[in-house]
Amino acid sequence: MAVAHILGFPRIGAQRELKFALESFWSGASSEEALRDTGRSLRARHWQAQADAGLDAVSVGDFAWYDQVLNTLALLGAVPERFGFDARQLTLPQYFTLARGNAGNFAMEMTKWFDTNYHYLVPEWTADTRFDGGVDWLFDEIIEARAAGHRAKVTLVGPLTLLYLGKIKSGLTDKLDLLPRIVAGYQRVLARLQAVGIDWVQIDEPILALQLEPDWIAAFAPTYAALQPVAPALLLATYFDQVGEHAALLRDLPVAGVHLDLVRGVGQLDAFLPDWPAGKVLSAGIVDGRNIWCTDLEQTLSALAPAQAALGDRLWVSSSCSLLHVPVDLAQENKLDGELKSWLAFATQKLDEIVAIKRGLGSQGRAAIAPQLAASSAAVAARKASPRIHNTVVQKKLAQLSAADTQRDSDFAQRIVKQQAKLQLPDFPTTTIGSFPQTAAIRHARAAYKRGETGHLDYLEQMRAEIRIVVEQQERLGLDVLVHGEPERNDMVEYFGEQLWGYAFTANGWVQSYGSRCVKPPFIYGDVYRPEPMTVGWSQYAQSLTEKPMKGMLTGPVTMLQWSFVRDDQPRATTALQIALALRDEVCDLEKAGIGMIQIDEPAFREGLPLKARDWQQYLDWAVRAFKVSACGVGDETQIHTHMCYSEFNDILPWIAAMDADVITIETSRSDMELLDGFGRFAYPNDIGPGVYDIHSPRIPQVAEMERLLRKAREVIPDARLWVNPDCGLKTRGWPETREALGNMVQAAQNLRSALKAERERLVA
Ligand code: GLN
Ligand code: ZN
Repeated sequence: MAVAHILGFPRIGAQRELKFALESFWSGASSEEALRDTGRSLRARHWQAQADAGLDAVSVGDFAWYDQVLNTLALLGAVPERFGFDARQLTLPQYFTLARGNAGNFAMEMTKWFDTNYHYLVPEWTADTRFDGGVDWLFDEIIEARAAGHRAKVTLVGPLTLLYLGKIKSGLTDKLDLLPRIVAGYQRVLARLQAVGIDWVQIDEPILALQLEPDWIAAFAPTYAALQPVAPALLLATYFDQVGEHAALLRDLPVAGVHLDLVRGVGQLDAFLPDWPAGKVLSAGIVDGRNIWCTDLEQTLSALAPAQAALGDRLWVSSSCSLLHVPVDLAQENKLDGELKSWLAFATQKLDEIVAIKRGLGSQGRAAIAPQLAASSAAVAARKASPRIHNTVVQKKLAQLSAADTQRDSDFAQRIVKQQAKLQLPDFPTTTIGSFPQTAAIRHARAAYKRGETGHLDYLEQMRAEIRIVVEQQERLGLDVLVHGEPERNDMVEYFGEQLWGYAFTANGWVQSYGSRCVKPPFIYGDVYRPEPMTVGWSQYAQSLTEKPMKGMLTGPVTMLQWSFVRDDQPRATTALQIALALRDEVCDLEKAGIGMIQIDEPAFREGLPLKARDWQQYLDWAVRAFKVSACGVGDETQIHTHMCYSEFNDILPWIAAMDADVITIETSRSDMELLDGFGRFAYPNDIGPGVYDIHSPRIPQVAEMERLLRKAREVIPDARLWVNPDCGLKTRGWPETREALGNMVQAAQNLRSALKAERERLVA
């Protein structure tokens, strides 16, 4: 009989129990024992859900107090040495110190887990890194699972992926130099798992989905030749993209099975099926672990039929990747209407789907799951036919889009002259990225309005009062281009999503982003349409308070897409274009309302890049096009800004230039302007504002510091193109520090202007 399993379950809890327990422990309000209790009961509940659904084994090893990569390091004993902890005796508080830092040590770096919105802690490799053994938590969890009567399949981050994702800190030139040591570490862990009677270990090697360097590919065969003989049966799991190019490698690799992400391409089966070795398992990751739509069971059974015919019981059924990336349970969802709900499956519902598919592939075939099949087909058909999905107005607009719609009237060189004539900005103009401190009072006001406790007019007055404060403060500080401060926005995607047709929001659809932090991505189910202006009133009011230019503030199409669950019934590019059309209308309405500068934020632009560089071009083409659709409806005199952060841009600079925003503001202060070298070398043509104030830290940057950064910027950016601004929005900062920091920033700009003036006079003399 085939096996139904998952690659991992969300650990945070349907009610975010782990988040609250962690934060309570960190604040000192509750004991370590209480935290451990919460962890234990979450594991028990999640295993029970897997067993109840009928999975053949439950997933052990997917639980982590903070992050699965950090857990793997703790298991191997490879925690960063700079903390001075004894890996074998690592305590839970020490584990959290690794993740969060303390007075003496900065935290381990955190970065995105492949192309997801989950963040892992980056391993730190040095010549002294040891893999000599660490904590026993995994083995305790196996005992726990067994005590509850479950059959456990253990999941581990694989050695090559772990090694690859780490960063060299010192004493090494090549990460692969650590390979013999890390292999020995895994051998010990795997041998111990075998000794305690574990029969299958899922070992995750998602780096195979990257465009991997040849020396890393070559490392797979010897690594697994060293591991499999001392280990339980190994299921090598790939996910997040297809791995058809590695079919020969995976076929011959000495492991007991291989898992494929078929959601990212059922077609890759063709590369594997013809001569898949007898006795080797192929695990079909066919239920989407990254999205929230019900699986079309009928279609899935058809797609898997050839594999079933070829492999029989050696075909396993699973989620495409860990279910970590979807919310826990749709049953907890009370905000969505019945129709929308009937189209969705969260982690708990996906367990049932996986089991249904396995049974549908069994000897009785479809007959074994007739009711589920009928329900699934009905849901799929209902969704397809629902009038809420299709909007002919949007489709018509989309069809009418022409090349002219993605082009400004004139080139930047001509536009900037007209803009400057109108705006009369000084050299090195100063501005901010949009949000100002979101005080408790603002958040309460918004929440009360949402709950219906505050009437519309009262709320409007409260927000206007806040906008007045923000404008007045900026005037007093002497900033050149003002913003309204975004007090009405809880979240830069939610705010717009709530006003657009085609978007829906859950009450409880939380997904772990890192540690205790969760996000609740909206989902896009239908054609996106803007029924009426979304920001014009706020911007217009703010502009009425000042003679200085007021920047309108919007979230760009790629970011709106990237931070949502998206439709699976049309290409992402189409959805992005629909959002872009809605934003284009907003941009044009802002212009009509007298707003002469409009910023379209794209902080998630880079994170949408496909894992394989050879797929970048296609993504960048439609992403740039979507941005331009949103931006290019205005006249030459209207200045379009964009903003990006958390990004390394150097490899995509030509496309950033192709977006043709008049001004781009970017995050650079933490990298000491390093990022700018790329912009200089590439000769980025338009205006640019490299952030000189790290808003992620409460530290107040001094004038001299920012001046130094700006001088560095001047080395690569022409004076006429250079703006002065912080790295990102100020919403997480407090007022006193913000005032002081911005005051210093304005002073730094003024010093620069004086210096420039002196230089010019010297030239004339
Ligand atoms: N305009 C947004 C703000 O200032 C931009 C946020 C972001 O880049 N993440 O908050
Ligand atoms: Zn930002």
